[in-house]
Amino acid sequence: MQKVKLPISVDPVRAAQKRLELEALIPKELLSRLAESTISIQSDINTVFSFDIDRQKLRIFHGKANVAVELICQRCNEPMLYQCEAEFTYCPVHNQEQENKLPDAYEPIYYDENGEVNLHQVVEDELILTLPQIAKHAIEDCQQSEYEISFGEIDEEEQRPNPFDALAKLKHK
Ligand SMILES: [Zn+2]
Repeated sequence: MQKVKLPISVDPVRAAQKRLELEALIPKELLSRLAESTISIQSDINTVFSFDIDRQKLRIFHGKANVAVELICQRCNEPMLYQCEAEFTYCPVHNQEQENKLPDAYEPIYYDENGEVNLHQVVEDELILTLPQIAKHAIEDCQQSEYEISFGEIDEEEQRPNPFDALAKLKHK
């Protein structure tokens, strides 16, 4: 079955009243910021949205988005596939006061001048947030795995930015 394209913006109040459910694609060409943050986006982006009114009468929407992207492995400088999986719940707000009162479970999003919210922007922001700070192959898939195994795995938390990353980037230009 061919999926529909996700509308760029929706009126979240009307969508919530209708309990709108959307299952739709975003053409990958439209997400230029995600494209800039990766080597390539492997396919159009799958998204699912459901709009609802919660017990406090807040209009909210819940969504999921996923797509595979290519990143550069920071250990061996070869491309690697990375599966982005985002899940989020937003509550549209008009002002700071409403934003401050939101339950922690919800992310705030501002209505635009037409009373709509931009779903493409939400999906793109959420997918970018799923990207790892330091992309690395699984050890068994990495070109540098022998080196890495003989020197032991460095704890993610303690890892400092690698001074060779800058060199690696220059090399790829
Ligand atoms: Zn690697």
